[in-house]
Amino acid sequence: MKRKKKILIILTTGILLLMIAGVLGGIKLYRVHKAHQCGIVLAFDDYNPQNWEKYFDLFDQYDAKVTFFVCCGEPTDFCYHAAERGHEIGFHTINHVDLLALSEDEVYEQAIAPIEVFREKGFELTSFAYPKGSYNEELNELLLQHYKVLRGAWSYELVSKYQMRNGFVESLSIDNIHYNSDEEFEKAIDVIMAELDKNVGAVVGLYSHAIDGGNWCVTEERLEYVLKKAHDMGIQFYTFKELQEN
Ligand SMILES: [Zn+2]
Repeated sequence: MKRKKKILIILTTGILLLMIAGVLGGIKLYRVHKAHQCGIVLAFDDYNPQNWEKYFDLFDQYDAKVTFFVCCGEPTDFCYHAAERGHEIGFHTINHVDLLALSEDEVYEQAIAPIEVFREKGFELTSFAYPKGSYNEELNELLLQHYKVLRGAWSYELVSKYQMRNGFVESLSIDNIHYNSDEEFEKAIDVIMAELDKNVGAVVGLYSHAIDGGNWCVTEERLEYVLKKAHDMGIQFYTFKELQEN
């Protein structure tokens, strides 16, 4: 009887240990998978709340979290709605001004002072997009004292997630004006996705302004092409803030 009990205890302990090892192994695998996962940091700039909000369901459908770089003096209803849906509110100056044309006081007023206004209303602004992609090293130095990531607007840049934690990163416009046809757009996206797929843990910034047929917008069809293709290839959508906290 005693012997049977002993065997039972040994067996139970063994099974328990195996289960713990399995769980720990699973967690480790999950972490490795997360670190290796490549992604897209999709953003919309300026301020088109009605248009943007209309597409919240489409973003959800593809599990896409987006960063909205807003131009406004304080958080609006849109900002709260977007945050509730898991999107990030980033900043883009109050009046969409070219920071290179401003005095230091004006830069403070347009790009730095609003951080406190937003903070008082529950928003921690940590990502900033330069209006017109207009910046220099001095601006980077100044703004990085207040923001974690500064985003440019002029080119395609494949970076590691680590680079997205702090500093300046470029971003590629997917606005209609840059592509002559849907075919050309899709080809460009295919190249980007293939590059992402080849580079472990890489991310790329893409942005537009609204979802529409205008020059500085992306059509719904093109946006859905990006969302679907990424989804099908297992490429994740990240907000800027998510990567800063990683
Ligand atoms: Zn802008």
